[in-house]
Amino acid sequence: MSTTDAAERAALTLAPNGLLLDGRWIDAEAHATLPVTDPSTGEVLVQVADASVQDARAALDAAVAAQRGWAATAPRVRGEILRRTYELMTERNEQLALLMTLEMGKPLAESRSEVAYAADFFRWFSEEAVRLDGTWATAPDGASRIVTMRQPVGPCLLVTPWNFPLAMAARKMGPAFAAGCTVIVKAAKQTPLSMHAVAAILQEAGLPDGVLGTITTSHASAVVSELIRDPRLRKLSFTGSTEVGQSLAAQAAATVLRVSLELGGNAPFIVFDDADVDHAVEQAVLAKLRNNGEACTAANRFYVHESRVEEFSMKLVDRFRRLVVGRGTRKDVTLGPLIDQAAVDKVAELVAAARAEGAELAFATPVPDGAGYFAPASVLMGVPADSRIVREEIFGPVAPIVSFRTEEEVLRWSNASEYGLAGYLFTRDLDRAIRVAEALEVGMIGINRGVLSNPAAPFGGIKASGYGREGGHEGIDEYVETKYLSLSVAGPAA
Ligand code: NAP
Repeated sequence: MSTTDAAERAALTLAPNGLLLDGRWIDAEAHATLPVTDPSTGEVLVQVADASVQDARAALDAAVAAQRGWAATAPRVRGEILRRTYELMTERNEQLALLMTLEMGKPLAESRSEVAYAADFFRWFSEEAVRLDGTWATAPDGASRIVTMRQPVGPCLLVTPWNFPLAMAARKMGPAFAAGCTVIVKAAKQTPLSMHAVAAILQEAGLPDGVLGTITTSHASAVVSELIRDPRLRKLSFTGSTEVGQSLAAQAAATVLRVSLELGGNAPFIVFDDADVDHAVEQAVLAKLRNNGEACTAANRFYVHESRVEEFSMKLVDRFRRLVVGRGTRKDVTLGPLIDQAAVDKVAELVAAARAEGAELAFATPVPDGAGYFAPASVLMGVPADSRIVREEIFGPVAPIVSFRTEEEVLRWSNASEYGLAGYLFTRDLDRAIRVAEALEVGMIGINRGVLSNPAAPFGGIKASGYGREGGHEGIDEYVETKYLSLSVAGPAA
């Protein structure tokens, strides 16, 4: 463990270090293990159990055995377990936030927000659990009635990334449990602790044995492939990189497995000539630097009208100057480390490539000396519209600014991406806002706002950013099948 701080040690004890299989935690001590490290120091925090292919099979056996009973559990009972989970997470926000910062690095204030956001998915879906309805209609020829019901899809595998260790899992578990599905979660190996802590909370809230299993592993490919090819698995929901998502979708085709994919992004952040630039800059800081810049919805390229680009750039640099980069547990820190050295190297490579293409490095923050995976928060000006940094997902605290002339030009550039997750636009002209929002090829748009996430809204992308929606009323649709009954109605009424 990297620290002697009592609060940090206490936070680490919230997370069981084993595997949850059929309601029992299999201790790490009795198992192969993998290390979880603190990205701000590079030191090992704790060892957790490393699931094998056999463990994954055992988790699926338990999920299959529990499926019928869980589906038959009254929706109100399922909803109340989710509600209780929300309450327990809210009570323990501070310790869960500290645990998350230790394993992932983001500043404590942001971890607190993520815990609240994740808990809110359990609250939202506790309310949705009792609103799963069907339909009744008279067939056009009058001879029958068309009745539809929605039933749980069955055992689900939920694969999540390291960047939001809790929210991505809660966004999937909430609707799955509400719909009556059993679940196996494969959290990212770099950040399993927050998820383990919430799995323990779900048990405390009354989740029956076998309804949830966790399989943290260093053999992701083998473990996940084993489950995908098992016909007893009925649903895969994946959040992560486009490359891995494509491979899993191809594997899932063999059993015609239902799949939802939340993949990478490359969000344009467009500032028109009539925008409130001060407001746009404040929102740009959120859209760019939230989660250390490691968010799928992060503003990846800033398109600013040529008449305002100097003003926007200077004001953004002023805001970046106020950042404090360091260990996320420190009160004054506003930007934490990246997840690992490979992430730091990739960001540095993209910045170097942009400079070689003619961009000017307007500002870069200092970073702490010594161990830890810190990348400077940087502003790049005069970036060519076809620069590599504009085409690739940066996943770090770098803001490349590109100047544009016309609405037609900025729309063309914005849509010239394989991705289609999020976009942001800043204008006071309502006609333009509607026109541009309708033309942008993305699943979500912030209009004069730099933050989109909300448990009550449908989150998801198009194109190579994936398919399916999480949250909102749509979120539960991913976990139910529609069954149709045809009812014969004999003879006309006398
Ligand atoms: P990743 O490498 O694709 O990993 C995501 C998950 O898949 C992890 O649990 C990982 O396990 C697992 N995995 C990796 N390789 C696998 C394989 N061959 N077979 C089966 N599972 C595999 O992505 P990441 O680097 O963790 O996350 C960053 C990416 O996620 C970014 O592209 C970001 O945009 C995207 N993201 C999208 C959303 C959204 O809602 N659209 C939200 C957040 C993040 P290990 O831990 O063992 O690697």
